[in-house]
Amino acid sequence: MLFKNFNELTSEDFNNQVVTTWFVFGCNCNCEYCFNKDRVVNTESQTLTEKDLISYLTRNGRFLQGLVISGGEPTIFPDLPDVLRTIKESFPNLKLKLFTNGLNPDLLSQCLNYLDSVSMDVKGATPEDYDRVLGLESLPNSRKGLAMLNVVKSIRLLINNNAIEPVFRCVYLPEIHTNDSLKMIKDLIYPYPLDVASLIG
Ligand code: SF4
Repeated sequence: MLFKNFNELTSEDFNNQVVTTWFVFGCNCNCEYCFNKDRVVNTESQTLTEKDLISYLTRNGRFLQGLVISGGEPTIFPDLPDVLRTIKESFPNLKLKLFTNGLNPDLLSQCLNYLDSVSMDVKGATPEDYDRVLGLESLPNSRKGLAMLNVVKSIRLLINNNAIEPVFRCVYLPEIHTNDSLKMIKDLIYPYPLDVASLIG
């Protein structure tokens, strides 16, 4: 895995617990509003690896309640489940949380045994909305709509897993979302609430 940088200590990412948050390098989307572009595309600054993460936890794990892996998009790294398993086994006192866009349900399903919480973005209510938000409109017709299909699979995985605390979020985009489409998203993630964030303030 590759990481771009990390917050040594924060209490904002995981139920007010004291955690370290690590941001992976790279993403499988190109959202216009992305506020993490530097972490996603900047190839100039230095990257860190999972060895740096484990070394950091070895030195500082006793001060922490948890680890959050965010991005970019963590599930673009095939070794994510192995890295999570190693951390869970080596640092059993740490709670682990993952942020994801839900586009890779197969890899997400391999991670669930090692996670305590997953925060997932739900960006739209229809396949067309999804492709627009993700900047995937130029995909060939045969691949259009696949993003939403994968997101629905990921939502089902999280809702059906009793050991995971899921958090569903949506960044409100006035050109995409309506009251009806937000209601459709809420129906998709029922019985969990939707955390709707605005880009402004
Ligand atoms: S999925 Fe998230 S990290 Fe990736 S481009 Fe979109 S907003 Fe940025």
